[in-house]
Amino acid sequence: MIILGSTGSIGVNTLNIARKFNLNVEVLVAGRNIEVLNKQIEEFKPKKVVIANKVDIPKVNHRDVSFGEDEILNAIENSKSQTVVNALVGFLGLKPTLKAIECNKKIALANKESLVVAGKFIDQSKLSPIDSEHFGLWYLLQDKAIDSMTVTASGGSFRDYPLEDLANVSIKEALNHPNWSMGNKITIDSATMTNKVFELMEAAWLFDIRKLDAIIETKSLIHAMINFKDGSTTAHIANASMQLPIAYAILGKCDEEVLKPVDLLEVGSLEFKKIETSRYHIWEAKDDIVNNLDLGVVLNAANEVGVAKFLDSQIGFLDVSKISLNALNKFNNIKINTLDDIFAIDKEVRSYCGS
Ligand code: NDP
Repeated sequence: MIILGSTGSIGVNTLNIARKFNLNVEVLVAGRNIEVLNKQIEEFKPKKVVIANKVDIPKVNHRDVSFGEDEILNAIENSKSQTVVNALVGFLGLKPTLKAIECNKKIALANKESLVVAGKFIDQSKLSPIDSEHFGLWYLLQDKAIDSMTVTASGGSFRDYPLEDLANVSIKEALNHPNWSMGNKITIDSATMTNKVFELMEAAWLFDIRKLDAIIETKSLIHAMINFKDGSTTAHIANASMQLPIAYAILGKCDEEVLKPVDLLEVGSLEFKKIETSRYHIWEAKDDIVNNLDLGVVLNAANEVGVAKFLDSQIGFLDVSKISLNALNKFNNIKINTLDDIFAIDKEVRSYCGS
């Protein structure tokens, strides 16, 4: 397989699965973490390596190293592998997803931003999502009439902070997620709840349903629920690890133990909470977005600008959602008819948000 974003949180977990199931890795794509990349090259012996920047090429211990976005696309096109694991972060992941589809490869998709901005143009049958909630929903599907789907949220880093403190929280506090160890951007997206808006959009594309909601489950053991028309609700329960969704996305099925099962007696109790707009301001826009998925391009672009500014100490934590809500207000009439529209609107929104 080809792994895009091999040095990140999902990339490293994907290589754990490759090691466990003895899978062949043809191409590794990474950004700036050359130290980790070199260790991965030594162990997995890929044929080809692509990194973000030309200056880092001499530091990479491999004969065939190239750099930049176009080379990621070339590596996908020139590879023999049938599976592309897209674990890049942000809008950068879109072109590789489209290229993998064009080359008729199977995509194990962690890069949720691809679906958020371009779900309309992505053949869902070609992809398996690497996201615990969508994996959970897929796992629960039965040949029965579905009323609605619910995904769970952890509540993120500030779930229990006093509301009046949120304006002045630090970057370090924002990156301190209670249940999951993930890359910086998704950890901030989880703290603002933007990640859950993204996940409802993903679910809308993947399962062709709009009756969708999310609630907080503080231990991140229940990942998704399906409410069937007959009044039954089923829930997917598994320990908080991405290795299970990754194993299924790559292998299709899996009958070996990937995780230890949840010990409910040890867990004792579970707590559920409503997602309050007073804490998670972006949640105000949730219904509008789920009913107009074209807005994904706007939300994604504005959010990427906001998160980058927050991580660069230019704005406060609450400004991240403020930037997104302003942009959604300004661009609420957009229509996406072509892929070119996506790239044009993405650019316009970023410029409006001061990127
Ligand atoms: P990370 O930030 O940990 O990893 C991102 C990866 O992308 C790194 O390998 C990074 O390289 C690489 N990268 C960044 N910029 C470039 C570039 N210009 N060229 C090549 N490679 C680049 O993110 P995560 O693994 O947490 O998340 C990846 C995706 O998966 C996101 O879309 C996220 O929303 C999604 N996801 C993540 C989950 C998780 O548990 N982490 C759960 C569900 C979805 P380097 O580090 O070397 O700079």
